[in-house]
Parts: sequence; C-alpha cells; structure tokens
Amino acid sequence: MSADELPTDVGPMQASHGGVPDWLAATLNYCSRCGAALRFGRIEGEDRERLACESCGYIAYVNPRLVVTTLPVTARGEVILLRRGFEPGYGLWAQPGGFLEIDETVSEGAVRETLEEIGLVVEPGEVVGLYSRIEAAVVVLAFEARIVGGEPRTSEEALEVRAFRPEAIPWRDIAFRTTTWALRDWLRLRHPDLYPLGERTLEERPEEPGAES
Ligand SMILES: [Zn+2]
Repeated sequence: MSADELPTDVGPMQASHGGVPDWLAATLNYCSRCGAALRFGRIEGEDRERLACESCGYIAYVNPRLVVTTLPVTARGEVILLRRGFEPGYGLWAQPGGFLEIDETVSEGAVRETLEEIGLVVEPGEVVGLYSRIEAAVVVLAFEARIVGGEPRTSEEALEVRAFRPEAIPWRDIAFRTTTWALRDWLRLRHPDLYPLGERTLEERPEEPGAES
C-alpha cells in the first residue's frame, strides 16, 4: 500500500511495520537540513519507506531513544521507587531514570538521573533488562544499582520516594509496563522464591503514549 492509498485518518507513516507513532510523526514535518517539507515514501536502497526531503535528499531516520534507569537497592535488600510527579504515569510508581544524553555513557546517564530525581548516588551494577516500548518510541535500560551516597529526597519529578521490600512491591500502581518488567526480572534474579508474585499481578495496562523521562 502506498501512502497515497491510505485513508485520510491514518497517518502516512503508519504504512509499514506499524510505522512511527502518531505523536512522533506529528513532529516530523520539515527537513532539519534545508527546511523543505519531508515526504514519506520509498527511497532507493532502503528496505522500508522513509521520510525524506525532496529538495536536498536528506533522509530523516526515526529511531527509538534510550531511557536509562536504575533499581537502587538498599543494604537491607529493599528496592527504591519514586511516585511520579509528572505525566505520563503521574502519581504512579516507577524507578528513577530518563533520557540518555548524547555525551554520556549509559552508566553516567543512569547515575545522573537517579541523583536528580531522588537524591541518591548510585553505582550501577548488573543490567536487569532492556525493554522496548514501541508506542513511546523508547528502549528502557534498567540497572540494578548499589546506593553509595546521598539521601533519598523528593523532587519536582518525585512526589514520594520509598523503599519497598521485595514482597511489598506495589504491582497494581506501577506507572509503566517496562517498570513492571524490570521489577519482575529483578525478582527473578534476586528473589526467585517471590518471582510468581510479580508474574501473577502483571497487568498489561493501556498506557498513554509519549515520552517518559
Ligand atoms: Zn532538505
């Protein structure tokens, strides 16, 4: 199906492979090199339809962004979560994290975001998992992390910061599926005896699209 054959209420970028999420496609209208309009369609040498500039030939590749997060674990084996103070997921629990900046490593980004959001200095350890949220165009990396300094505190991004015993994780009030997956994988890694607890309450809740940070 070509973009021209699509019904008008379907964005042209949804033509193949599910395409780019609507909210993201809506931000990609003009060539960032020359300012002319971008057009979605077949490009010679490309294996899928792309957004490209008809004026200068620039191809606007659209790829997921990486969100780096930590599961800070206390000396007593509790995992620290924050209650989000912003959308998406306002009022629900998630791990600290945010978008990786272009000039930092994944560990540096995870340390920076954790400090900014909850005031803890952490040392990232094992990678618990790497998870795709296609509707939000992100890939979420979750480190287990040791707390090496700082004091837990709230911030604009965290209404509340709390340590949860592994058996007391608030499964029904988790903000994102990726958080549920990370916590579930952490349980499987560190508390295999509790692992079915996370599994049994895993909910595939419909989520708001958009960026998480
Ligand atoms: Zn251009």
